[in-house]
Amino acid sequence: KRKLQRTTKDLVDAILQGNITALSQAITLVESKHPKHTEQAHAIIKACLPHANQSVRIGITGVPGVGKSTFIEAFGTYLTSIGKKVAVLAVDPSSSLTKGSILGDKTRMEDLVKNNNAYIRPSASGDSLGGVARKTRESIILCEAAGFDTIIIETVGVGQSETAVHSMVDFFLLLKLAGAGDELQGIKRGIIEMADAIAINKADGDNLKAVKLAKVEFNRALHLYPEKATGWQPKVTMCSAINNKGIDDIYHIIKDYLEITVANNYFYSKRQEQNKFWLIQTIENRLKADFFNNENIKSELKKQLELIETNQTTPFAAAEYLLGLG
Ligand code: GDP
Repeated sequence: KRKLQRTTKDLVDAILQGNITALSQAITLVESKHPKHTEQAHAIIKACLPHANQSVRIGITGVPGVGKSTFIEAFGTYLTSIGKKVAVLAVDPSSSLTKGSILGDKTRMEDLVKNNNAYIRPSASGDSLGGVARKTRESIILCEAAGFDTIIIETVGVGQSETAVHSMVDFFLLLKLAGAGDELQGIKRGIIEMADAIAINKADGDNLKAVKLAKVEFNRALHLYPEKATGWQPKVTMCSAINNKGIDDIYHIIKDYLEITVANNYFYSKRQEQNKFWLIQTIENRLKADFFNNENIKSELKKQLELIETNQTTPFAAAEYLLGLG
């Protein structure tokens, strides 16, 4: 017990001094399924919490191939060049299925990974979206305590992970391609609605004309949405991540956003909303896990399913019965 405490204190002290090895160790504890590690992780997070929150959290999403890692490499490098300390985390629930994460892959951000003012951590794997999201959220706190003032959360533009990332960041950037044909498709609408800015990437070479057209289209599309509570009108911009073009424009858009939302207090109220959301989410996840992992529930659930199959009870009556046991 004493050793555990000493280790925890040592880790916290080192994290607060900006020690990257300690930060990585703490994130590994956050990601561990071992109850002892979870306990230690919670103690570390609690100690780090008063030193967290002093950062800008930026979510970046886009379909595979849009240029996320190329963009983050360029953007992250730009940010460090103006004195920022950048941590890159990823939410990629699919990585457990595809064996090994694609997002936040260090080999895809060759320059940034060597940069002393940047820290890149691949997505936690082997978990549900809820699990991965929780771990990323806790890792944000640790990175902030370690002195990172800009946190980039990367996620892939498929499925539900954007919603999870949107609920943990201050600013949500959507990377798009011109002529991908999905500009106005209903399926992408939810994501477009979440975006504080859309950057159309690969604005170079023969593609430049198409990107300029897409920019007009997106601007038109964005004006169809009701004004956001932020007092911020989402921006459309273009960039060429590979040529380092338009990267500073995106930084300035985010800077403008922060000026407006800090002044009108939206920035802080959004973080409070997010805290509330994660509190409820965590309780829901825990209750659900505790319920379904309960041995008695497991065997009774099996029996109730048999009764449903033979028309001896209804799903609703069975649910009432099982919930009564829980
Ligand atoms: P991700 O899957 O979204 O992370 O995309 P990547 O960053 O791996 O990029 C996918 C491909 O697009 C790679 O071959 C990149 O070199 C290329 N790419 C990325 N950004 C640009 C860009 O601005 N212009 C051009 N022409 N190609 C790019």
